[in-house]
Amino acid sequence: FPGDFSGNTIQRQTPKVLFSTVKPVGFQNPELILFNDQLSEEIGLGSFTETDLDFLVGNRLSDSIQTYATAYAGHQFGNWAGQLGDGRAIYAGEITNAEGKITEIQWKGAGATPYSRFADGRAVLRSSVREYLISEAMHHLGVPTTRALSLCFTGEEVVRDMMYDGNPEAEKGAVIIRTAESFLRFGHFELLSAQKETATLQALADFAIKNYFKEIDENSPKKYHEFFQKIVKNTADLMVAWFRVGFVHGVMNTDNMSILGLSIDYGPFSMMDDFDLNFTPNTTDLPGRRYAFGKQPQIAQWNLWQLANALFPLIKDAEFLEQTLDDFSQYFWQKHDRMMADKFGFEELLEEDANFFQHWQEMMIRLRMDYTLFFHWLEKPHEEREVSRFLQEVSYLRYEPKHEEDLRNFLGLYEKRIGENTFSKEQSLALMRKNNPKFILRNYLLYECIEDLNNGNKEKLYQLLDALQSPYEEKHPEFSRKRPEEYDGTPGCSQL
Ligand code: AMP
Ligand code: MG
Ligand code: MG
Repeated sequence: FPGDFSGNTIQRQTPKVLFSTVKPVGFQNPELILFNDQLSEEIGLGSFTETDLDFLVGNRLSDSIQTYATAYAGHQFGNWAGQLGDGRAIYAGEITNAEGKITEIQWKGAGATPYSRFADGRAVLRSSVREYLISEAMHHLGVPTTRALSLCFTGEEVVRDMMYDGNPEAEKGAVIIRTAESFLRFGHFELLSAQKETATLQALADFAIKNYFKEIDENSPKKYHEFFQKIVKNTADLMVAWFRVGFVHGVMNTDNMSILGLSIDYGPFSMMDDFDLNFTPNTTDLPGRRYAFGKQPQIAQWNLWQLANALFPLIKDAEFLEQTLDDFSQYFWQKHDRMMADKFGFEELLEEDANFFQHWQEMMIRLRMDYTLFFHWLEKPHEEREVSRFLQEVSYLRYEPKHEEDLRNFLGLYEKRIGENTFSKEQSLALMRKNNPKFILRNYLLYECIEDLNNGNKEKLYQLLDALQSPYEEKHPEFSRKRPEEYDGTPGCSQL
């Protein structure tokens, strides 16, 4: 498949295989913006030299590199969308490091593929900066994620209908390289299953088990059962991790679900400022709010149903699949409650904690508390927790004395509960500090960073990059404050 394919309306059909070979389109005047040396060393690519810039944007590749895009399908916003595929991602292959660990490498924005449908296969500065920074932020927060190796401007202008105002605008084109152990999605399995390509479906599952689920015995007659169970667990763990840091993906379609439980395909995502179960950053998800913060676990389970259907030809055991999907809820809530206990510094999880968490949530919503800052404050010694300042710095409500009583009541409950710990205050605090980030990549910060970049100023970019690498320290106090009021009502900044 040679080069550009914009305007294509018919997708490549790929019977018996899941991919098409395709070459990046190439860019004349690329500019390197960010390169992740640490990741490069880690995956075995070594250090960066000037001539590597051509590789980073997909120019002049050696013949040993076989590049391709994959086909997948998916359920989008609850509906079967049929065949999709890597529309602006191209695989550059994989690399093995000294320890034998294999990493897949993709360009995003390097040109159209046979799966681009009507779109151009390009990416713009805004979305590329957002993806680079959030990938690395999530990694340093300890949330499973695809990683970002590089960010380059392509030197090309790309026209986009900005979600902000509906007017098409030319933006700087960009390419990122992203990496993952595997980019396999639920949708890859859904496609083969829908096409009734059972032999290829089985080959794909066997490949995934052999390479990414080494703990499963390849000769076990129940290997596909175990495969599904592991994906259910990976997915539930990811939902707990997202909840812990307040991440909202925004487009949890099954084609954006990784079988390894990685956060993948960052689009209109957002970190949550004020705690709000109904928060969605995705303007196209209104008014339904299918992918709102508080619904993510439920949607994950729904997506796993679709995967269960896709794997049915291999597992052929409806009772097992239903039971495993049922187990998702119990497993999720267990992990969720333990995670919340960690955030609060509780040594053991007690029976009545579910009630406590419920009280806490209601208070958070009533007082429109900032999720991250709330726990930051809670780590302060009791004596220093001045309630009126707490409210002014953490709540998005206009201050009213009556809110103090509400907060005091909760803090009373909390003190009582923390008194039941048998480990020391220091141990409790250490647990909290490991689980409550001080820095999160708020949407308004990204917005400011992108505005600055459009004006040629990279300072904010470097500052954010520094802050996101130590999210559990307060290295940049200027970023550890609630979203400024001036951003209320700014599309892409305040919460929908
Ligand atoms: P996403 O919302 O990023 O997960 O994308 C949904 C589908 O649309 C995927 O198959 C993408 O590859 C495809 N897609 C999104 N943007 C583009 C683009 N600019 N060019 C080609 N395909 C795209
Ligand atoms: Mg996607
Ligand atoms: Mg995408």
